[in-house]
Amino acid sequence: MKLVSLLGATGSIGVQTLDVIASHPEQFKLSAMSVGKNIETAEKIISEFKPEICAVQNEEDAKKLRTAVGPSTKIVSGMAGLIEAAVSTDSSVVVNAVIGSVGLLPTLKAIEAKKTIALANKETLVTAGHLVMEHAKKHNVTVLPVDSEHSAIYQCLNGEDTNRVEKLILTASGGSFRDKSRDELKNVTVQEALNHPNWSMGAKITIDSATMMNKGLEVIEAHWLFSFDYSKIDVILHKESIIHSMVEFVDTSIIAHLGQPDMRVPIQYALTYPDRLELVKGKRLNLWEVGQLHFQKMDYDRFRCLKLAFDAGIAGGLMPTVLNAANEKAVELFLNGHITFLEIEEMIERAMLELSNVSTPDLETIQETDTRTRIFVESLLSKGR
Ligand code: NDP
Ligand code: MG
Repeated sequence: MKLVSLLGATGSIGVQTLDVIASHPEQFKLSAMSVGKNIETAEKIISEFKPEICAVQNEEDAKKLRTAVGPSTKIVSGMAGLIEAAVSTDSSVVVNAVIGSVGLLPTLKAIEAKKTIALANKETLVTAGHLVMEHAKKHNVTVLPVDSEHSAIYQCLNGEDTNRVEKLILTASGGSFRDKSRDELKNVTVQEALNHPNWSMGAKITIDSATMMNKGLEVIEAHWLFSFDYSKIDVILHKESIIHSMVEFVDTSIIAHLGQPDMRVPIQYALTYPDRLELVKGKRLNLWEVGQLHFQKMDYDRFRCLKLAFDAGIAGGLMPTVLNAANEKAVELFLNGHITFLEIEEMIERAMLELSNVSTPDLETIQETDTRTRIFVESLLSKGR
């Protein structure tokens, strides 16, 4: 029986992780969880899965939840609570499915506690990839990808010599606005941006997919997970999301990973690795039903955020931290109706020009830069942009 700590249990990945756990009760048990503010759903999850501990974002909500669930589940709050949920039980794996750079500290602490990390929270690797990977190496801990592209690449690299890899090829669906020109993007609405053609995901990552920043974050994530230079990471448009990513080798062979766009597959693989289990209620992929697969060269002028992410990754140091924090803040402003869709990339670019870089920053500098970047982006609102 594998005990699982799940951070971000109320989110899109969180709920699908619970589905995987519930579908294999003989294999998995939820021992710890965290939520943000959705304590109604937390109460339901606690009553079904009976974890030892649950962390919530605010102490006020923690008090309400304590009264509602009784003494069998310990309720904790704040960053200290989130870390306690990550490290305190006998879990062997921590699924990190929180959104944003708030996931960084619990990841580092879970690594110190020698837990395997099943990482959905890509912002953690973008904001501080060198710290996370160094920490994992030092404590001899495996970081397994949950992101579908990285899970695909992980599987394509199984048993291969990474010195024989020509490049990693990440596929991108193109998000909600794949076929729109930049001119047509000027007046798109939040509702239109939230309407992803292939994947049902949380709001922030759906906007990231529409701006193509999601793929940019994934390029940086791939750089850290697989230790490849940015010149060896490529992105290709593939609107069907059937090929989840590919690896090209020096002998010109390309190995691709195919499957239905169903996040339970990479989530479950991260929990069973190196083994596999049946995907309960999983739809099989019939390629004759799909008929055709399409591919298109990536246009870096059209998808400006992807170019910014490559620039930040190649610059290294603090630039990915700035990119990530500026993006998190700008997406929040867009979702709340304060800025237009194209202003997201403008704000990120201005933040990257404004904030100065430092090579191999420590944790404190990263956290400070994250905060300063968010303040800078917010300040652009009152400056009339
Ligand atoms: P959601 O927005 O659906 O869920 C986020 C989760 O994090 C919720 O449980 C939320 O709690 C919690 N949370 C939010 N803010 C905080 C905070 N400040 N402190 C503590 N907890 C917080 O996100 P997704 O599930 O879509 O994405 C999660 C991560 O996985 C992201 O990094 C995303 O990029 C990545 N990912 C997601 C995919 C998907 O298909 N959704 C695919 C690949 C990667 P609450 O709702 O209770 O407030
Ligand atoms: Mg992905």
